[in-house]
Amino acid sequence: MAQAYCFKCRTKREIRNPVKMTLKNGRPATRGTCPSCGTKVFRIGG
Ligand SMILES: [Zn+2]
Repeated sequence: MAQAYCFKCRTKREIRNPVKMTLKNGRPATRGTCPSCGTKVFRIGG
């Protein structure tokens, strides 16, 4: 399961509804929401 740092919880959380995307520089990234607080989270890498 992909994880990302949630700035609101100040800890790592699983990414809910992760969506894979590609940055402008061609690197993969994953974004979704924090399952605890609902804040959008983002991480570099698939
Ligand atoms: Zn959170």
